[in-house]
Amino acid sequence: MPLWTWFGLREGLGTTPWPQRPGPDGQDGVLGLPRVDASRCAGAPCTDCAAACPAGAITVEHDSPSLDYARCVGCQLCTEVCPQGAFSVSRDWAFGVRGRADLLRAGHPQLAAARDGDEAGAAALAVEFNAFGHSLHIRHVDTGSCNGCESELQALLNPFYNLHRLGIFFTPSPRFADLLLVTGPVTEAMREPLLRTWEAMPQPRWVMALGTCATGGGTSGGGYACHRGLEGVLPVDLWLPGCPPNPAAIIEALLVLLRRREPRVRGGEHAR
Ligand code: SF4
Repeated sequence: MPLWTWFGLREGLGTTPWPQRPGPDGQDGVLGLPRVDASRCAGAPCTDCAAACPAGAITVEHDSPSLDYARCVGCQLCTEVCPQGAFSVSRDWAFGVRGRADLLRAGHPQLAAARDGDEAGAAALAVEFNAFGHSLHIRHVDTGSCNGCESELQALLNPFYNLHRLGIFFTPSPRFADLLLVTGPVTEAMREPLLRTWEAMPQPRWVMALGTCATGGGTSGGGYACHRGLEGVLPVDLWLPGCPPNPAAIIEALLVLLRRREPRVRGGEHAR
């Protein structure tokens, strides 16, 4: 008897029942993106958090910090340098949202612009969504990632997560794809191949920005050779920051797109 057959018979079913039924999601002990309590900064002029952030995710206006989760790489430096304790470590990991504005808190300077972009996209998504069956086929394009996100994507297909049981599949051809899943900050060299992949997909079609590089540029976006993620390159229907987002976060986000799960993040705040 082959070793793997023997091992499988001995161990029994390895696939988690989550997310269809209660079961392990693989998130035990996983550190999430930081929480912010700007009220702790009242009357304390300080920009230590913004100065420490390597991703430009924090802005401070009127002594009050604002965090853009689309740019956060989860390095936790802000939690270490903040003298007021306004930034704290958390286990918040499910950051998949359908609108860019949900990754910003009220009062963030970029909020109005993000809302304008989301409204146009949401209208199109609502009309097209009925064309979806219950399955989803994904074409993945790496536009300059460090391969951290790819490593997590690969884990979706292992026996524990077994993504196919949810009716979600990867396809090598854009002709068969419903969703264009993009990782990386979109280097100038990959912009054209990315757009050609998008044009080759049948309509209706959707776009997911996966990982902080794709949602906001990360630490390597910008400059003459690289965009700041998908913003301004393609319309985005699903945003998932994280560096990298782990398999459970990716599954939750895909279910949010399919309307099989409600987003846990609204107004820049993760449900507790
Ligand atoms: S955890 Fe996020 S917000 Fe905080 S310093 Fe790192 S990248 Fe910036």
